[in-house]
Amino acid sequence: MKERAASPCVNSKTEPSIKSQSMHRKDPVERGDGPPRLLVVASGELSLGGLSVNSEVPQAEMLPMDLRRPSPRSGFFRILFLAFAMVVLSNCPASSQGWYLNLPQPTSAPSGQLASAPRASPDFDHVIDQVIQREKEFLATIRNFKPLVETYIQNLKPDAELGTVPVSDQYFLGKLDLNRGLSERSFLQQPRLAGWLDKLTGIYSLKYMPLGFAQMIFVDDRDFDRQHYSFSFVGREFLGEVRCLVIDVAPLPSSGNSRFLGRIWVEDEGYHIVRFNGTFTPHPSFTYKLDFDSWRLNPLPGLWLPAYVYSQQSDEHYRFGRRLHFKAQTRLWGYDLQHAGDHQEFTQIMVDLPFFDHSGSGEDLSPLLSLRRVQYSAEENVVERLQVAGLMAPKGDADQVLETVVQNLVITNNLTEKLPDVRCRILLTTPLESFSVGHTIVISRGLIDVLPDEATLAAILAHELAHIVLGHSFNLDYSFDERMFFPDEQSLRRLTFHRDAHAEAAADEKAIELLANSPYKDRLKNAGLFFEALEARAPSLPNLIRARLGNALIAGKVSRLAVLKQSAPQLATRDTNQIAALPLGGRIKLDPWSDRVELVNIKPVLLLNAGEKMPFEVTPFYPYLKRIPIPDRSLSVKADSPADHGP
Ligand SMILES: [Zn+2]
Repeated sequence: MKERAASPCVNSKTEPSIKSQSMHRKDPVERGDGPPRLLVVASGELSLGGLSVNSEVPQAEMLPMDLRRPSPRSGFFRILFLAFAMVVLSNCPASSQGWYLNLPQPTSAPSGQLASAPRASPDFDHVIDQVIQREKEFLATIRNFKPLVETYIQNLKPDAELGTVPVSDQYFLGKLDLNRGLSERSFLQQPRLAGWLDKLTGIYSLKYMPLGFAQMIFVDDRDFDRQHYSFSFVGREFLGEVRCLVIDVAPLPSSGNSRFLGRIWVEDEGYHIVRFNGTFTPHPSFTYKLDFDSWRLNPLPGLWLPAYVYSQQSDEHYRFGRRLHFKAQTRLWGYDLQHAGDHQEFTQIMVDLPFFDHSGSGEDLSPLLSLRRVQYSAEENVVERLQVAGLMAPKGDADQVLETVVQNLVITNNLTEKLPDVRCRILLTTPLESFSVGHTIVISRGLIDVLPDEATLAAILAHELAHIVLGHSFNLDYSFDERMFFPDEQSLRRLTFHRDAHAEAAADEKAIELLANSPYKDRLKNAGLFFEALEARAPSLPNLIRARLGNALIAGKVSRLAVLKQSAPQLATRDTNQIAALPLGGRIKLDPWSDRVELVNIKPVLLLNAGEKMPFEVTPFYPYLKRIPIPDRSLSVKADSPADHGP
């Protein structure tokens, strides 16, 4: 078992109560075992389970509901506005018809029987009491966790044909500590802010304060109650498979600054808020208006945890159409890092690869095998450390999909005997990067997101496989366990897998050779097109392109595998039939509790205009919510009082 003493995030005192009931969710299927599947079929066509890629049309993105109401700037106008807002809110039509709810509100949804599971009609006031109580419990529970929080921001400028295009970007990665208010330990080296900026706190300085984005995981972390807010029932709606009550929330007059104005979705069994969409109001007149859409997921029975926030800041004074200034994705994960890593299970025996197995021979390993054993230890240490830090997903099905592509390269290049053990892992972060550590190829979630098709994925993996084939070494100091003793947030500074320009050029050359023998050889035009698009966007997205652990996909102004561009068609940013790269955020589904990832099937949707292509761009989230059933009241999460799951 790996030592985690150096990591300050382990604190038994703050262990959430739910842990004591062994709620650590075990995946029912032991993943990652068995050989990777080679799926080269007779015709030479490739079919990969789980990886649905389509180079013709990109994913559909559903825009979230957005309360774009003007915000008041003086006391008088604020009251006037609030009065108006409440009239508007109370007259919102029910968002779906035919739902069973009998609430004493003039705005209640049309009555009608829901076919399944008729419930007693809770009084709306009672529902609100439950929601307020649940949110209080949520605030108490969330303080026990120290999740990773990542925010990626794209600053925008208007574009006549594409709507907006990114002109610059910013990236934050840290570990949230809610125990001492809202604080963050950054994984990145942050430039010191000027004194006066440093003092600015609160949501409207968020361009400079990553914590501003973290604030959006709370509706109101101080005063979410009837003394500060009014509540109006809107209707019911399914979010994924979870039936929700939809309620509009508006701050009462003179209830203070930075109050939430917007809509909340409350799941109708435990009355937990699962989504809220709106703004903080009133905002200072010198800033732009901020809208956000915040989602919580249900990884354990009775526990809903913040996972995604989409936010955007726009100029509300524009008369015709609002001008967007930035859009941002905030993700949270790593809630259960106490159990992260392949070797955390006490019962699990670390298994050597067969060619290191000398248990029956009674002999020491030969010098060569000893060296390989050290290399393997270093590789294992790195993989384990990245998982424990919350930066790498545990071994899972998604890795096998990537390994299948690697196997297709290995087998068609007759490398099976030499390289029987190449494996793939997924880094959980957004910046586009891939690197190799020993015989492990690592590729970031963000990079998988934007790849348009399997051939492009093969090109990325071929470059890393080439490093392995060429025997490019890495820092064997990592085989010494004590090298891994550092606080999690220093991971990106303590670990590096960067290679020099010479090794990069050699790997590119070898990769082209590997691809030429592979089933992907006739489909590399798209890969070339991807690298063209990457080069085109790179100057405005330096933080997306910048690798944190390995080499960036672009060195100077030239992309990796630049030779592939020669066979690629010309980049046509306004042609809806040409998809060079996808938006961020569609391909990988991340369980924020266990850090497990799965590849999502993206259903093709016809593009309406070039503005929907959004290569490498931030888009809103619209997760499919699922509820983990509470099997038995006696087993329910402590924070969730049993009396509240009725009727
Ligand atoms: Zn490389």
